[in-house]
Amino acid sequence: MTGVRRDTEPYPDSVLRARIDAEGSIPFDDYMAEAVAAYYGRGDVFGLAGDFTTAPEISQMFGEILGLWCAVAWQLMDGPGRVALVELGPGRGTLMSDVLRAAGMLPPFRQSASVHLVERSRPLRAIQARTLAESGVAPRWHDDIAELPRDVPLIVIANEFFDALPVRQCQRAIHGWHERHVTVNEDGAYAFTPGPEIDAADVPEHARAAGPGSIVETCPAAGAIARDLGARLARQGGVMLAVDYGYAQSAAGDSVQALKRHKFHPVLVDPGCADITAHVDFQALAEAGEAGGAKASGPVDQGAFLNALGIVQRADVLAQNAAPQQAAEVRKALHRLIDPAEMGTLFKVLALADPALPPLPGFEGSGST
Ligand code: SAH
Repeated sequence: MTGVRRDTEPYPDSVLRARIDAEGSIPFDDYMAEAVAAYYGRGDVFGLAGDFTTAPEISQMFGEILGLWCAVAWQLMDGPGRVALVELGPGRGTLMSDVLRAAGMLPPFRQSASVHLVERSRPLRAIQARTLAESGVAPRWHDDIAELPRDVPLIVIANEFFDALPVRQCQRAIHGWHERHVTVNEDGAYAFTPGPEIDAADVPEHARAAGPGSIVETCPAAGAIARDLGARLARQGGVMLAVDYGYAQSAAGDSVQALKRHKFHPVLVDPGCADITAHVDFQALAEAGEAGGAKASGPVDQGAFLNALGIVQRADVLAQNAAPQQAAEVRKALHRLIDPAEMGTLFKVLALADPALPPLPGFEGSGST
């Protein structure tokens, strides 16, 4: 989001150190942007052999349910003859491939859809191309949502995309607030340091009364995308579904973490070697979408959403048609996706939509935040 584009460089160390040498320290969101771009620039980082496993990599059921949701949304949009089916941050392309297979159940929807992927990592684009070639689909890629078509309605999905966008951290000192910066200490290691003082008016209102030491995060990149897409949905028609882990209501706290080989890794060690993420502030995302002109619904818990869309019935069908060992795996995957002790409540689902549309499946009766 900050114009970083060294997609194949494994470690952004030299770039970060040169900037810190020149400037003394840099804002944390710049550090995170460099580290995340370098990390995904390495290619396939997902699954058991990688660093973390996402819902579509757990089971095909996740993408099939999202595909069903897209098909119903398309019907509620009065079945436009042309629609752009968009995914933000498609990883291996697994989710889009499962969505398209489910969309095939409603051929007029499948035939109306052109596929657009917003992805900056060139190695991941190559993997997505291979995955989708198997489904007979030739997607178009974009670096930025600004390049998405402007003349057709949009159906946008995003799973674990917003959590990868860089967050700005503000920390409360005894007197006033400071932006949290990153520097290099005498031992040559990266370290947090207070940056310039910031005006209390620039701190989110919900956190202004927080005590000394408190940290509050904002994600300007997520806000800009939700606002821009919100405006597009209101103008061009369409819907967006964002699935991620995070807070239903804005809250203070340092939520930044890094994962490497399925274990926590220190955020400031070896930037680009681990997956750095932050919790998504769904209230802020919903408000940004509404500021753009869309209607927000939810967030609802992932478990409740998948249940409402019939994932248990889908698991029954898959299990009935499978060998005993595979049937047990289907049950285990279902449990991981919907159980509150697993991904069921930590992960949430938010919809943004053209305000002219009726309530969307999975959100009936759930107002906006
Ligand atoms: N949705 C996938 C992968 C999630 S990982 C899944 O559920 O398995 C995050 C994805 O977002 C990766 O594909 C990464 O390359 C992409 N990404 C991260 N930051 C991005 C940015 N600023 N612009 C576009 N894509 C980005």
